[in-house]
Amino acid sequence: MSNKSKSIYSPPSEGGAGGGSCALFPGSFDPFTVGHANIVERGLKMFDKVVIGIGVNVLKTPQSEMEHRLADIRALYEDNPHVCVEAYTDLTVDMARRVGATHILRGLRSVHDFEYERDIAAMNKRLSGIDTVLLFTEPEYQCVSSSALRELIRYGKDISAFLPKS
Ligand code: ADP
Repeated sequence: MSNKSKSIYSPPSEGGAGGGSCALFPGSFDPFTVGHANIVERGLKMFDKVVIGIGVNVLKTPQSEMEHRLADIRALYEDNPHVCVEAYTDLTVDMARRVGATHILRGLRSVHDFEYERDIAAMNKRLSGIDTVLLFTEPEYQCVSSSALRELIRYGKDISAFLPKS
């Protein structure tokens, strides 16, 4: 059976809520890049399970676009039972609780990221008690951001070198 139907609410014996350590990796992932994939890969060395949570602003993102993003990222991990991908529309800490996350996982590329991540991590900790684990980007991915890729797309450039291979 394809893992596309796999749920984050899997029983403890399969990991996830109630079973082992689980990190929620939240983001917009618009698009999901090699930099994001690298954080997932390294997160899996620290946690039994990584839930990629696509945070959706329902006012800004059409349903069809969201479903497309979800399907694309799920396809990347369909053979990996330690990764699942879900969208959410509420607070990250509520999603983290729902999936039984022991930690929130995020990536850091720059001082700018650091200040942003520090503030969010502090608020999330205060709201939920859940700690955030921050991983420094690998140097080769430092310049890779979803916003830069969206800009390249706008000018008709090929961004395939920055997208993970399935
Ligand atoms: P958001 O929309 O919440 O800013 P993104 O979807 O842009 O999030 O990214 C999700 C997480 O991945 C963030 O913690 C971001 O810093 C991290 N990230 C994005 N690109 C990279 C990269 N190239 N290397 C390491 N971490 C990254």
